[in-house]
Amino acid sequence: MNRHCSFGRVRRWAPLVLSALLGLLPLAPANAAPPSKAWQQLEAVERRQRADPAPLAEQLRGLEPRLAVDSAERLEARTLLGLLAAQDGDLAQVTTIVKWLQDWPLDELQPSAQVAAACVWAEYQRRRGDLREARKALSKVSVVQREGALPLQRWRYHRQASFTALDAGALELAQSEAQLALKLAEQLAHPWRVALSLADMAELARRLRQDERGRLWISRALSAAESDPDPITLYEVHTGRALVYSEDSAIALQSYSQALQLATEAGAARLRALALANLSDYHLRHGKPSVALDLAQQSLALVGPGDDPGTANLARFNIGLAKVLMGRLSEGRALAKAAVQAELQHGALATAAEDWLELARYLERMQDLPGAAEAYREGLKLAQPLRREQLQRRLLEAQERFDADRRDRDLELLARDKALKAAQISQRNLQLGLWALIGGCVLVSAALVVQALRRARNANARLAVRNAALKQQSESDSLTGLSNRRHFQAVMRQQGPELQGSLFLIDIDHFKRINDSYGHAGGDQVLIELARRLRHQMRDDDLVVRWGGEEFLVYARTTEPLLARALAQRLLDVVGRTPVVYESLHITTSASIGFVSLPLAPHGLRLPWERAIDLVDTVMYLAKVHGRNRAYGLERMLATDPLQAAELAARLEGAWQAGDVTLVTLEGPKLGSQAGTPAPPPAPQPHQPHQPPKEDGHALAQ
Ligand code: GH3
Ligand code: MG
Ligand code: MG
Repeated sequence: MNRHCSFGRVRRWAPLVLSALLGLLPLAPANAAPPSKAWQQLEAVERRQRADPAPLAEQLRGLEPRLAVDSAERLEARTLLGLLAAQDGDLAQVTTIVKWLQDWPLDELQPSAQVAAACVWAEYQRRRGDLREARKALSKVSVVQREGALPLQRWRYHRQASFTALDAGALELAQSEAQLALKLAEQLAHPWRVALSLADMAELARRLRQDERGRLWISRALSAAESDPDPITLYEVHTGRALVYSEDSAIALQSYSQALQLATEAGAARLRALALANLSDYHLRHGKPSVALDLAQQSLALVGPGDDPGTANLARFNIGLAKVLMGRLSEGRALAKAAVQAELQHGALATAAEDWLELARYLERMQDLPGAAEAYREGLKLAQPLRREQLQRRLLEAQERFDADRRDRDLELLARDKALKAAQISQRNLQLGLWALIGGCVLVSAALVVQALRRARNANARLAVRNAALKQQSESDSLTGLSNRRHFQAVMRQQGPELQGSLFLIDIDHFKRINDSYGHAGGDQVLIELARRLRHQMRDDDLVVRWGGEEFLVYARTTEPLLARALAQRLLDVVGRTPVVYESLHITTSASIGFVSLPLAPHGLRLPWERAIDLVDTVMYLAKVHGRNRAYGLERMLATDPLQAAELAARLEGAWQAGDVTLVTLEGPKLGSQAGTPAPPPAPQPHQPHQPPKEDGHALAQ
């Protein structure tokens, strides 16, 4: 198992100090005044940060007293100290530094200090595997704070947000955050930061199986790193390159070897150990167990047990696998098992699951069938709760999108506030002018006074109209014209604490394929058309919301399960029955739908709207995994409160089998071709069933 460079655990947070001190680094950004000596030293520390934290922390502490109180350099030194402490899992130190940063005085550096505090805390939490806490810390930073922070802090913020999203499996979010970080790195004109951000993009492309793109990104990363070379950044980029080229063994081997050489040159023991372990993994996979064994043993000799548990476990695991392959079965198996147990102790559940399965494959290859069976069993046991985690990840992604919405809203409110203040000021000026006029000149005609007052009133009325337009704009989706999440939330807030009515979550199937086959513009056209069809099915007082990229949420006032069922069938039909026409091409579409009507039988279960959405999301997901182009409706659930409901939803399929919940299942229309792939134009149908007219609404559903 290659523990390479999930950016979270093993890679990242690069930096450099020694070479700067030795005068090797050209540090001045291309288009800015040369940085001060203190900044050069700080940047050098950051460049080396990944390599060996202990001496760097010492060095920062030595530097700090020489930096002016409340200066940007002082702030930076503390931030770096905080990140080093987070990397080492030193909670006491992290807490002190975060507090120090949060208490920064109210000056122009305050936003940077808040962003820095969030990054340090998030780094600490992410490294110990608490992604929820990490995300919470990052989302607490307001848009105003973030925009007001130094580009350097913003670069770290967006990278941190990207790592957190990646670790949580939200790849697309991770990609957009990494893109923002890349822009900031370019703005800073620090080639090594640009190189790291480009390597992040490459890694994400690899995870998203966009191989070609991954190769492009990594070659750009290499050029950037080579334009201002330092061994640590180059190490990161070469390791990333080995991963992107893992299918091409010559390039992968060359890159891993290069990374090892760079780590050695940099005198960075931790990185050298990791590079050796990665190289050992490469040789294992290429059938050279004795070379692999030797490399893994060298790796283990470099890391103390408390030093870098991830690398130590990887090395131990590889030693075990190498021995298995060399026929020293029981010895190898025991070593590998011990390494997996250690992974588990560190909470690395997903890694441990993968390791069990990998061990099983090796044992099977060596004909140790009972050993293989045991390892498979252990691996599958761990993989089961991971499936549940996948569901939670989807929720997390939804939450991320919600937070992004909230950040937009903050910005908008700020703009509105400004406009309002400007109008108030001009009105006050007008009034003052009037009083001056009245007091100073008795001959001024009453008509003039009236006219001036009218102007003030008109200005206010225009402002009110503008505000209303702005509100309308901020509550609808610009592509489809449907309501957006914000509008839905506003309606829900007015509704009282519990939701009454029927909710439908509609997720278009294989939408990525539609984008891949017809381009983004084709995808957009599909969204516009399907939004129109869904809206057309519903009454005016029902809500049809663009919930996310290719997800729609429909809220109908009916609480009747039978009506909801008929409506779900119609929604399936309008999405799937007729292909969407785009530039004379016919695009077959289908959707998976989860729905529920509340209160829910048999106990009249009531839920807050957020929980109701979690529930339909889970039900929709089940429709997805059971084949798509279908709707699942929850019609009965043996739960009396939201807690019990969540508990049953977490094991929905089992609960369904056990009879604790009842799901109704509806099939979508027969499709001309697989959703998302080009379809032949439909044959003319003389008796094509027509859509019920809008005025009928769902009350007339058959
Ligand atoms: P599944 O059947 O499992 O739902 O597969 P899927 O491909 O539909 O689902 P996934 O969530 O993996 O992909 C959704 C895609 O929708 C990814 C994203 O690029 C695309 N998308 C999101 N918003 C838009 C948009 O506004 N326009 C276009 N054209 N595509 C979008
Ligand atoms: Mg989706
Ligand atoms: Mg989809």
